Amino acid sequence: VLFDLDDTLFAHRAAVGSGILATLAANPELAGADATAEVARWEALEETHYHRYLAGELDFEGQRRARARAFLEPYGVALRTDADATAWWAGYWSRYTAAWALHDDTVPCLDDLEGRGIRLGLITNGDLASQTRKLEAVALTGRFEHVVASGALGIAKPDARIFLHTCERFAVAPAEIVYVGDRLRTDALGAVGAGLGGVWIDRRGVATRDELDAASAAGVPVIRSLAELPVLVSRTAG
Ligand SMILES: [Mg+2]
Repeated sequence: VLFDLDDTLFAHRAAVGSGILATLAANPELAGADATAEVARWEALEETHYHRYLAGELDFEGQRRARARAFLEPYGVALRTDADATAWWAGYWSRYTAAWALHDDTVPCLDDLEGRGIRLGLITNGDLASQTRKLEAVALTGRFEHVVASGALGIAKPDARIFLHTCERFAVAPAEIVYVGDRLRTDALGAVGAGLGGVWIDRRGVATRDELDAASAAGVPVIRSLAELPVLVSRTAG
């Protein structure tokens, strides 16, 4: 069983929310901001600029600076130099990392799968050094036989090659592997496209009818918690 990291095992969204709330509180020039709206705006900027990084349009540091600049723009705060943008990012980053945590169901799920003799791996769309630090911080280091990061491979999900590369590293056929992630198209359908099984974890229950239909058409089970996974994959294997 292979996992996505952010918002599948690791509670990224919650840590981002904490990081932005603490940043609003710490920056006088952001006084009076609508906290809920600003967390949502930050998430949208992350989505935009992180995908520019995954598409090769910006480097990893460049997408961070772009997010910082775009976030501050409505407040009339200009981060003129790259050093200014990087310094502002560092403040946000320290507040974000202070809130790093796993989802409560992660360790029980990994323990259960391991107890069933199932081999575990990770495929993440991100920078290897950054994601490795995250794994260390939440005590997941060593729980996976292989950790594959798009930043190191130069290929990002949903490209089939990142899934196939990982299957090769396990020396296991794609059809014997299940990939679990919180993004339907990037994770679950991407995995299915490469010949693996795909599982979509919709923790917040926000799936639309169209998404559920697309998952169903691709044979992708939809789960709300990792607690559902061990029985699901054992049944599939059986
Ligand atoms: Mg994810």
